[in-house]
Amino acid sequence: MARLLTLSLPALCETWAFQYAYDKVIWMKSCLVVDDSKVIRQVARHILETLRFEVREACDGRQALDSCIASPPDVVLLDWNMPVMSGMDFLRALHATDLPKRPKIVFCTTENGMAHIRAAIEAGADEYVMKPFDRETLESKLQIVGID
Ligand SMILES: [Mg+2]
Repeated sequence: MARLLTLSLPALCETWAFQYAYDKVIWMKSCLVVDDSKVIRQVARHILETLRFEVREACDGRQALDSCIASPPDVVLLDWNMPVMSGMDFLRALHATDLPKRPKIVFCTTENGMAHIRAAIEAGADEYVMKPFDRETLESKLQIVGID
């Protein structure tokens, strides 16, 4: 502590601890990745972390809802077909909650799930992304919903 106090402000700003706190408090956006596939969650987490997101995971809609109620993320990456609670049921349940801030929802689908897109948007999703997605695609979708 005594050492920190002897640093000038510019020197303090260059310390790792300051940079970490600054990123964490001011810049890092949060994303909840909801998918029953562990592989998909890991891929999404990796991409999002390179985009400087703080990432949380849920493996079904029920867990995702609990996570949103405990602490709403900035954005939810949402799978459609999941056990326990589907993406659609999650959207409906989220809509019925009284969250102070509604997270943006990016719905993830496969080519076979194209028919779900309209239903997802009608149920409150903001955007969709096709699986498998890459970093550029996900980044552009997050920009579209205003999270970047
Ligand atoms: Mg699934």
